[in-house]
Amino acid sequence: MRICVYSGSNNGAHPLYREAAASFGALLAKEGIGLVYGGASIGLMGVVADAVLNNGGEAIGVIPQALKDVEIAHPRLTELRIVNSMHERKAMMAELSDAFVALPGGAGTLEELFEVWTWSQLGVHAKPCALLNVGGFYDRLVAFLDHVVEEQFLKQAHRDILIVNADAEALLQAIRQAEMPTVSKWFGMDAV
Ligand code: AMP
Repeated sequence: MRICVYSGSNNGAHPLYREAAASFGALLAKEGIGLVYGGASIGLMGVVADAVLNNGGEAIGVIPQALKDVEIAHPRLTELRIVNSMHERKAMMAELSDAFVALPGGAGTLEELFEVWTWSQLGVHAKPCALLNVGGFYDRLVAFLDHVVEEQFLKQAHRDILIVNADAEALLQAIRQAEMPTVSKWFGMDAV
């Protein structure tokens, strides 16, 4: 099994974020789950990869040529794949992975996670998507998603595809047990 981890290319304001990224990387290695990620050595991205590698795990990075120097491609990954664009990066990361987890991060992290979540909603894939809610980082996003459900732009079944948990082991357990809904994305239609 391989999990794609999206996370900030910055460290965030509190040491808690780096600590959680390091423990998550160590947990992946311990569980024999391979890491797929953006290939950078900076920010939480680098912390996760270092923790996986330091604990004997597998880490595959996928980085666009143009970001290789800016995000400083990680020098000791199991495998580093260099692609031509952000689009290729996301497609390859998705293809190589069995599930997706976002750690705290910025616009890039959110964009990447939202893209794969929308794909699951459309039935493009059936791979679990999750938010590791470190220190309640994603609480306000989750509250907003509940609002989107209330306003009937998102079905509860599709909101529920997105697993949210602050505890990494519980999150992995939920990923292993996840089942995809078969309801249509559109209100008033019952077939996908
Ligand atoms: P951030 O959460 O903004 O620090 O970004 C995390 C990672 O997402 C970085 O490696 C960014 O290069 C990457 N990223 C930002 N925007 C995109 C995008 N549109 N497609 C793919 N990756 C992106």
